[in-house]
Amino acid sequence: MIKFYNTKSRKREEFIPIDEGKVGLYTCGPTVYDFAHIGNFRAYIFEDLLRRFLSLSGFEVYHIMNITDIDDKTIRRSIEENRSLQDFTDEYVKSFHEDVETLRLLPAHEYPRATEFIPQMLDMVGQLEEKGFTYTTQDGSVFFKISEFDNYGSLAKLDPDQLRSGERVENDEYGKEEGRDFALWKGHKDSESNVSWESPWGNGRPGWHLECSAMSTHYLGNHFDIHCGGVDNIFPHHENEIAQSCAATGEEFVNYWLHNEHLLVESQKMSKSEGNFYTLRQLLEMGYSPESLRYTLISTHYRQKLNFTFDKIKSSQKCVNKLRELKRRALLIDIDAEGRDVEKLSSDMLGKFQEKLGDDLNISGALGELFVWVNDIFSQLDNNEVSVSGAGSILSTLNTVDLVLCVINDTCNDEPSEEIDALIIARNDARANRDWSKADEIRDKLDALGVVLEDTQGGTIWKRK
Ligand code: AMP
Ligand code: ZN
Repeated sequence: MIKFYNTKSRKREEFIPIDEGKVGLYTCGPTVYDFAHIGNFRAYIFEDLLRRFLSLSGFEVYHIMNITDIDDKTIRRSIEENRSLQDFTDEYVKSFHEDVETLRLLPAHEYPRATEFIPQMLDMVGQLEEKGFTYTTQDGSVFFKISEFDNYGSLAKLDPDQLRSGERVENDEYGKEEGRDFALWKGHKDSESNVSWESPWGNGRPGWHLECSAMSTHYLGNHFDIHCGGVDNIFPHHENEIAQSCAATGEEFVNYWLHNEHLLVESQKMSKSEGNFYTLRQLLEMGYSPESLRYTLISTHYRQKLNFTFDKIKSSQKCVNKLRELKRRALLIDIDAEGRDVEKLSSDMLGKFQEKLGDDLNISGALGELFVWVNDIFSQLDNNEVSVSGAGSILSTLNTVDLVLCVINDTCNDEPSEEIDALIIARNDARANRDWSKADEIRDKLDALGVVLEDTQGGTIWKRK
């Protein structure tokens, strides 16, 4: 059974997808006015862990991540640099994709850009207007009228009195009836240069919250499984998404809301505005490896705050090195080696590794199981107690673990395949028994599955064709 902590109920809940075997996943993406910092990447790496774990558990995941290429910051910065909004944001979209690759994040299936979804956003504003959830102000802005929506505040667990007093509201320069209402469409202002689109309410541009409601619905339907983001997104962003989407469609919006805690520097959130941030590029220039950064960001539970220190990155590198050394040692086992098969030990560990992750992505528990096994296997290797098929099961176990961690192998984006693992182990067995025709027959079968084997001095390794 898989359980996730749902922000909506503030409880761990069993995960049951809407369509059996499939998961619709929406994750709030970057605002492209600068390089993403590694605090942002804590969110994206948590989402990558979630996605990889769901795939390992047999789900087919359809993942959408938006790119916010229009908001106050992108407009202001592009004007300051005297560049068009598109030209300015293109640069940071490109660098974001490069960073995603460096950190070995599985790319989303779609990366919709807000500026490409204006018609869908206007449709949603139209639906909301028709149903009486909006009002228009003199400057041509359209606001969502929170008082019309019964469940406002249910995600963030807002106190209705606090809402009424208009305290915790977004800073917004546009006129509105009530402090807590938020803009769906923002009437054009001269200070925003020529950034504007036509709409039935006059020229202007969309509000940030509307972007995510329109794009998630476009790809995943009105009602989908999982929506993620950092805890800072719970209010107002996700609260407002729920209000807009549910009010427009009259349906449920999202079943499971998962939010990651922040990456901190000296107890403060790492953020652009505090100036206490590192980009991935800066850390790579300082000589840290992408794997050590990935491991650092993945290895603390996503709902715990994580303090950024260089010591943490160094100790992460040691963990990565240890896993890689185990792989090298297993590859060195001679095909004539006799000894114990460690298959049961390995499959027991994998079972527990997956079970821990199934408990709200308990990564510390999963890594604990992994390293108990790693230490055990090292001592068996030291005592020459591992057979060639034992080595096969060590390698396939590391490959499976790496489908989630993605820090050991050069490529770790293959779907797990028990069939391939079983064939490789059977071939190792056949070779150990000098049954060459059977070994060749298995090699042909693997070839038909698109897997190439390479028998190196140290052992057999495999790749996709
Ligand atoms: P932004 O580009 O500011 O919209 O943020 C993109 C994502 O990064 C959102 O899901 C934020 O919640 C998340 N985020 C921003 N800063 C941090 C941080 N210091 N630690 C973890 N996640 C963060
Ligand atoms: Zn969003």
